[in-house]
Amino acid sequence: MPLKLYDLTAHELRELLTRREVSATEVCRAVFERLAEVEGTVQAYITLDRAGALARAEEVDRDLRAGRDLPLLAGIPFAIKDNICTRGLATTCASRMLHNFVPPYDATVIEKLNAQRAVIIGKTNMDEFAMGSSTEHSAYFTTRNPWAPDRVPGGSSGGSAAAVAAGTAVCALGSDTGGSIRQPAAFCGVVGMKPTYGLVSRYGLVAFASSLDQIGPLTRDFTDCALVLNAICGPDERDSTSAPGGTGDYTAFLLDDVRGLRLGLPREYLGDGLDEGVRRIVLEAAAVFAQRGAHVEEVTLPHTEYALPTYYLIAPAEASSNLARYDGVRYGYRAPVTGDAVDMFKATRSRGFGAEVKRRVMLGTYALSAGYYDAYYLKALKVRTLIRRDFEQAFEKFDLLLAPTTPEPAFRIGDKTEDPIKMYLSDMFTLAVNLAGLPAVSLPGGFLDGLPVGIQLIGKPFAEGTLLRAGYAFQQTTDHHRRQPALTGEILHAAGGGSPKDENGSLFPGEGRR
Ligand code: GLN
Repeated sequence: MPLKLYDLTAHELRELLTRREVSATEVCRAVFERLAEVEGTVQAYITLDRAGALARAEEVDRDLRAGRDLPLLAGIPFAIKDNICTRGLATTCASRMLHNFVPPYDATVIEKLNAQRAVIIGKTNMDEFAMGSSTEHSAYFTTRNPWAPDRVPGGSSGGSAAAVAAGTAVCALGSDTGGSIRQPAAFCGVVGMKPTYGLVSRYGLVAFASSLDQIGPLTRDFTDCALVLNAICGPDERDSTSAPGGTGDYTAFLLDDVRGLRLGLPREYLGDGLDEGVRRIVLEAAAVFAQRGAHVEEVTLPHTEYALPTYYLIAPAEASSNLARYDGVRYGYRAPVTGDAVDMFKATRSRGFGAEVKRRVMLGTYALSAGYYDAYYLKALKVRTLIRRDFEQAFEKFDLLLAPTTPEPAFRIGDKTEDPIKMYLSDMFTLAVNLAGLPAVSLPGGFLDGLPVGIQLIGKPFAEGTLLRAGYAFQQTTDHHRRQPALTGEILHAAGGGSPKDENGSLFPGEGRR
């Protein structure tokens, strides 16, 4: 069987490229051929940049032929979540509001990937403004889980996770405010890391909740995770919350050795609401670590049950402020109305935002309003401190915590769209990490009825190296990350992305096609 280039990892491709056994152009073409095969079913991308991707690949090939040294990610196909600004390439946040927004600048992470000479295939689907857990809140279409096309890929970075799983990208970037990298990584059977708050610059990431948002990698294994993290991390004077200091080389942590590592199993993450099969997989993972010489013990994080209500006050409060900028004046959509400026603001925001975004803006505005600020927003900030302290105490005794990423494997499309609380509960195990600013990673832990299940490792601030060490060792002992979806299902749509949700193919019913 011929080698399927799109199925390899970045480090495997790197070897083939440096040995000149394949060219970057061949790799890039293989990904676009794969797209033609499966994108009609998966629908991971909102925008594809075939010309840009091929131009970059050819440039890499010229340098390879000239015998120049190239950065480690040169020629590697990447998918980028559509809330990360790319100069000259539409960045819609899967919202009608930004359907026509073409950023005049690159996010810092994109500058860094460009410096690596990575190949950007396109921009991936997501829940609108990153609010959601399934990509069903995208204004455009729902991405399908490559393992089971009647199921969601998770969200909000669902397109990025699905692309890596389906072979339509080798690596991807996502963003994680409350679980949006880890939860889709779990549902799609890939590695997804949310770095420590401040490790990766947020400059050029369209803001959802600024005190929680973080960009991170989605990859097929931990070596790739370390390579991408190396490339995107580091201080940035354009993001005042970015952490100072050097970070070193994360590949140095890929040691295949967890002896002596102290692993805590938080009791609150193994209780109510957790699927039995997922619990079994987490405990099996704990046994793998114990066999390999780690000390595994139960630990308690007593304020865990408050993470969800706390998050759903703080995140919407910040979102309501961040999203105030979409007023039809500066950029993005403007509703064509006659009347005064207030009529225009109202119509623009009513038509430009989807239902979930409006729900968050209203929740946030309410929590911040005079009279409720102390009772809700301020109280949530105080509970956030208690949640952070739980982790600080646990980390006095443990190096890492091991938990499920999600309460259950990928759910069916449509299962949770009627009930926002049900949807919010899919992040019950990921939210606290963002509130505490910690690094965490989801990795393939096993399968239930053919669906991937993720396990989550949570670390101390800036202990990404420890996460990589443990994750790498786990993958040396197990092979869940090597399984690939069959993706033989019927093609649901013509390739080239889905069409806007409105049945007339219009994003703005009544306003004519644009
Ligand atoms: N699903 C969570 C939410 O809807 C988290 C989203 C995210 O991490 N961006 O807010």
